[in-house]
Amino acid sequence: MFCKKCGSKVEPNDIYCNVCGNKLNSEKNINSINDSSVSMSTLALIFSFFIPILGLVFGAIGITRASQFKNYKTRNKCIIAIIISIVMIILNYLFYDKIMAILLEYIETQ
Ligand SMILES: [Zn+2]
Repeated sequence: MFCKKCGSKVEPNDIYCNVCGNKLNSEKNINSINDSSVSMSTLALIFSFFIPILGLVFGAIGITRASQFKNYKTRNKCIIAIIISIVMIILNYLFYDKIMAILLEYIETQ
């Protein structure tokens, strides 16, 4: 990578440019955006069990961010979260139907 101010070659781990002293923060910015996709995927996994709709939303945001930075591990985590969310939505739906059936049966016997 190169310094944005003077154009001289710098190492990816350098914090300051050795030639002009310019602060090199582009790498740090990329890492913080990567971190946000990691936390998105964690939120997506947690929400997928309790609030599946939010699991889908965070999973979708996480996939978009992780894909931008080629963070395939995090992207896969988001895909798993979305699958769990969809399964939970289906299970909730089936469970809801059973509760309604039991309630209707109960009302009819009164
Ligand atoms: Zn420089």
